[in-house]
This record gives sequence, C-alpha cells and structure tokens, in this order.
Amino acid sequence: MSFTDRELGMDRKISRRDFMNGAAMSIGAAITPGVNAFAQATSPSSSQTQEVQNRPGYDPPALHGMRGSHDGSFQVAHSLRDGSFWRQAGQPIATGEKYDLVVVGGGISGLASARFFREAAGSQARVLILENHDDFGGHAKRNEFEVNGVSLPGYGGTYSIESPAPYSPVAKRVVRELGIDVSSYSKHNNDALYRSLGMKQKIFFDRETFGVDQLVTSPYSRWGTTTPEQGEATWHEFATHAPLSEKAISDLGRLYTLDEDLYPGLSSDEKKAKLARISYANYLTTIVKVDPQVVTLLQAHPQPLYGLGIDAVSAQDAWGLGLPGINGLKLTPGPGPGMGRDAIRNDEAEAYFFHCPDGNASIARLLVRSLVPNAVPGNSADDIVTAQVRYDQLDQVSNATRIRLNSTVVRVRHLGDVATAQEVEISYVQQGQLYTVKAAHCVLACWHPVIPYLTNELADEQKEALRSAEKVPIVYTNVALKNWKSFAQLETASIYSPGCYFSEASLDHRVSIGKYQCTTKPEQPIVLTMHRYPCEPGLPAREQHRAGRMDLYVTPFDTFERNIREQLARSLGAGGFDPARDIAAITVNRWPHGYAYQYNSLWDPFWLEGGPLPCEQARKPYGRVAIANADADAYAYTDCAINQAWRAVNDLKVSKLTEA
Ligand SMILES: Cc1cc2nc3c(=O)[nH]c(=O)nc-3n(C[C@H](O)[C@H](O)[C@H](O)COP(=O)(O)OP(=O)(O)OC[C@H]3O[C@@H](n4cnc5c(N)ncnc54)[C@H](O)[C@@H]3O)c2cc1C
Repeated sequence: MSFTDRELGMDRKISRRDFMNGAAMSIGAAITPGVNAFAQATSPSSSQTQEVQNRPGYDPPALHGMRGSHDGSFQVAHSLRDGSFWRQAGQPIATGEKYDLVVVGGGISGLASARFFREAAGSQARVLILENHDDFGGHAKRNEFEVNGVSLPGYGGTYSIESPAPYSPVAKRVVRELGIDVSSYSKHNNDALYRSLGMKQKIFFDRETFGVDQLVTSPYSRWGTTTPEQGEATWHEFATHAPLSEKAISDLGRLYTLDEDLYPGLSSDEKKAKLARISYANYLTTIVKVDPQVVTLLQAHPQPLYGLGIDAVSAQDAWGLGLPGINGLKLTPGPGPGMGRDAIRNDEAEAYFFHCPDGNASIARLLVRSLVPNAVPGNSADDIVTAQVRYDQLDQVSNATRIRLNSTVVRVRHLGDVATAQEVEISYVQQGQLYTVKAAHCVLACWHPVIPYLTNELADEQKEALRSAEKVPIVYTNVALKNWKSFAQLETASIYSPGCYFSEASLDHRVSIGKYQCTTKPEQPIVLTMHRYPCEPGLPAREQHRAGRMDLYVTPFDTFERNIREQLARSLGAGGFDPARDIAAITVNRWPHGYAYQYNSLWDPFWLEGGPLPCEQARKPYGRVAIANADADAYAYTDCAINQAWRAVNDLKVSKLTEA
C-alpha cells in the first residue's frame, strides 16, 4: 500500500511557522558578508538596537519547520571552512566594546563558562557570549507548540539530566544551585499513566526490510522487570506475530538465553580485549552464528547512544549496554581493559535522572536566568517550564553578561604575542556585517572542528586533535499531535522501527512541573518525538558520521515531512491514526553537528593501547584563550559540557574557584 500526498496530508496547512518565517526572523538581510553588506555599515551602537533578537515577537522556540541547525546559522562558518570568507570580508567594524571574557558558543558549556568566570572574577565581570544560532542552549534547545489552546513544550535536543558515569561534584553543584532537585523527579513524572493504559514498547517491522508492515509487542520485556509468566506471554506474542523466519525467532530466543562461554580458555581481560575489537554485528554473525534477520532487527539499537548501529559498535560496548549473547563469557564487571566508561552500568549514575518537558533546555534557561535575570522572569526551577524568555533583554548595554545571538565568530587572535598579549580580539558576523570586540580572556565553547578555522595561533598537532572530534549527526523531530488515541488503542507509547527512516518514535514522559500540567488523556494533544540517526552502515565510524552529515545537508524539510507522515500512517494506521487529520505541527531539529564523538575501540587504537587522547591535546589553553565544550572530553553529555567549562575557566587562571 502506498499513500498519496493528499492521504498523508502533505497539502494540509498545519499550524507551522515554517523555516521561511524562521529564516526571515533569524538572519535578517544578508547571510554571508560581502561588499554590499559593508556599503550599508552601521555604527556599533545602532547595530545593537537593530539586532534581530531585540525585535518584538522574537521567540525562536515557537518556530516550526526546519530547526536545530537552522538556515542562516551555518552559512558563514561554511564559507570560512571553504576558504571564501576572508576574500569577501573587507574591513570589520570595531564595536569599541571591551569585556573581561568573551565566550564563543552559547550552549551549556558556554553558559556554564560564563557562570564559573563570574564566580571567579566577581559578578560585575563583563562577559559577552556569542552564539551563531537564533537561540541559546546549543543542543539543549526548546520547541514549543500550541494545539487547540494547549501549550506543549518539547525537547529539540538534549533530553534529560543523565549520564553513564556519576555527575561530578561541580556539575551536581550547578544543577543544585539552579534549583533542580533531581531526587524529586518521581513527584513530577506520571509514567504510571502509560502503564495503567497497558502501553508498552512495540517494534514496527516494515515491508521493505521484513516483507510486511507489522506492529508487534517487543519481546525484550521477557528479560526485564516483568514476572516470568508475563515474560513468557510477551515472548509468545512476539514469536507468533513477528514477520521473521522460524530460524530467526529460534536464534533470537537462543541469543537472549545464551549461557555458553564462546571464548573458552581466555581470561576475562583477554575476552574483553577481543570484544573491543569486534563489532557486535560481527560477533553475532561469526561467533554466536545467528540468522542475519536477528542482526537486522538489532541493528539500530545503540543509535540513540552513538549515532551508529551494531555494525560500528563493539561487542564490548554491547556487553556494557546489556545487549544479549555475551553473558556466558562471565566477564568481570566494570570497565577495562581499555576505556569503556560509557557502556558500564553505574547505579549512582542511573539514579541521577531528571527530564523536564523541554529537556535540558530548562538547564540552559536557568543558566541564562542566573546570568541575565531580566531576560528570564521567575525565581525557581518550578516556574522555568512556563517562563517566557525576553530575548530583547539578553544583549542590553546595562547587563554585566550579554548574550548576542545570530553571531558567528570567524576569528580569535591575541593582540600581540600569544605569551604576553593583554587582550584578545574576537571577530564575528551578524546580519552580514563583520564586527570586532576585545576581551581580556576568551573561552572557545564551540565545536572543536570549528576552532582551527578561527585561529592560526595553534600548532598543527593541536589543530589535528581538534579536527578529530567528528560530530555525530542526529535528528530529533517533534510532531505535535491533536490526540494520542491511536497509541492508546494500539497499547504503545514507544515504537522501535529498525528498518525505517526514523528508528524511534516515543510519546514524551508525562511530566508536570510547577504550573505546567501535562496532558493525561488520549483525547488531548501531545508531542511525539521521532529520532533519525543518519549513517552509512559498513563504513568506519567517522566516515559514517561524515556521510550522515552530508545526508542532512541535502535533505529538504518536505522529505522529512513525507517520511514522518508515511511512517506514522503505516505503523499506527491500525489504531486509527490519520496523518492528514491528526498532525498539528512538525519541528525537525536537524543536528548535523550533534553528539561529541566518543572514542570507539574498533577504530581508535589508543582505546586499548593507551597513550594521550586527542581531546586532551585539543583542549590545551593558549595565551588568554581556553577551550571548553563537550568535545573537550569526547563525551556527549551535559555533565561533560559543565565539567569542561569548569576546567577551561580554571585554565584561564583568573583566581581559585571553589568546587562544591
Ligand atoms: C539530539 C541530542 C540529544 C542529546 N541528549 C542528551 C541527553 O539526553 N542528556 C545529556 O546529558 N546529553 C545529551 N546530549 C549531549 C549534550 O546535549 C551535549 O553534550 C551538551 O549540551 C553540549 O553542550 P556544549 O555547550 O558543549 O555544546 P553545544 O550544545 O553544541 O554548544 C556549542 C555552541 O557553539 C556554537 N558555535 C559553534 N561555532 C560557533 C562560532 N563560530 N561562533 C559562535 N557560536 C558557535 C554552536 O552553534 C552551539 O550552539 C544530546 C545531544 C544532542 C545533539
């Protein structure tokens, strides 16, 4: 069965202020600098009053269509990369501003850097944060919808406070000081609602991959927290309905119950070392010898953690993640040999979890409130979900800390010799105009692969190390639905679709905080998040990420929209879902430069063999410049962004900071 555009509702006027509006609002006149732009050069003071972020109605979270790295946010950086930028740039305008610190990048790491710097230098320290997107928060981005009079916040990127390893004292302190009581999460979360409606994880088998479209209850709960009887019933249901061969079903059952030592005679460390060098897909095929359909079924499982499938994730990581078929090796619990820190279950880390309706955008908003109180009304973590940010307050002359959006930094250089200079000059482009500001210190909290294009003050080895942080492409698509009756009807809140364009689709947790009360009835609107991890199975990890980034670069919004509508129609149609009727709005959060690259034992030799890590070389401070960002510890988590901000500000040696 195939759908016409009309059946999918491609012609429907969904209430999206799509990227046309978004782009118009965020980038103003020119995207890249050029002589024409400079012909109308404005004076520094008038440039600030004309900032797009100061215009009435400026509210990026409410924009729909293509978001994340939205149009207008990347063109300047790409022209810098391609070598064409400085040929057109002409003379910059000096704004005359002097700061104690300029931060490049307004993500969690940049915002936390500003916070730590103020702790060290005093709250009157003058700080400027420059961010190329039209909103602050970096990956911790908020989406907003309004459906039938109901306000629905959503997470456009960073989903929750969580990390494989325990939060450091400094990261915990920041969370605590912002007012978030992580231990109170169960008070806000009403996931029992889904359970009370019998909703569980399902798998959508698509006809292109498995021969037929079929939604089937996931068998994994058989080995979860359910009773053995429930587990047997779930397995029976799965085995009866899954469109897999008898051999595949039998191999899957064997895999999950396997208790055989497939590497007899080797010590635990020797086995772990072997597992570190073989992909999980290869392990399943050549060591466990399962049917290829089992590999296809499990292929997309680790994508939410690594942006890669089991072809590019080691069997050792698969063991750490609890994937089946490895228990019989009786490995010693804990990491090593090698790094393996993110795949090893840690009870303390697991207990430290908090999800706000807009994800960690709430952390970004709380950080901004602490830096620019006028911009984010309210005074507790309970009111942050409903707070309306006053973007026009972010970059006021009277602020000690200013946040300047839509501003791409193109050069950072010491004024004089790196070792002895007293000032750094930072050049940035806003609305096609090149500006310079000066600062006593600078923290580069932007993506590491960008940094070599901003400076010629680094040695080649450090530039190489910075470039090796290959960002992981990810797409989080938020679909505002008028109701979730079809989900309730089909008894699912979360669907894994290993063969589809989006490998995951989940209704958000039912979380109510402060005055924000989430909807609780299937007849009411809700946000569905669909995940896509563009990659190219079979290639080495970094090459997969590059291929995925290119895929995102060339894929227009219409292609996402058609895939969303068709996938939902096919997987939920039996529950009465009608994409033309039920979809109210779509926001595609495109993150070509998503997760920080995490080292991979299949391709990074130092993982097992030891030696200096590229991120340690990459983050070395130079002169008055320090380097933050999650890339600085090759770890794609919020706590890492905070930890690296802490380390970077300490690298500036402003004065002694207190840890906890
Ligand atoms: C889709 C997604 C989901 C995630 N989910 C989670 C989660 O649930 N939990 C968790 O702990 N972590 C999660 N992470 C990881 C976490 O979001 C990041 O580790 C963290 O937010 C990174 O913060 P950062 O400030 O280091 O980098 P970023 O958030 O990337 O911020 C860096 C900023 O610098 C800007 N910038 C780059 N170059 C320039 C320039 N030349 N001029 C000006 N600005 C520039 C960038 O545009 C960006 O806004 C997720 C990440 C993604 C992409």
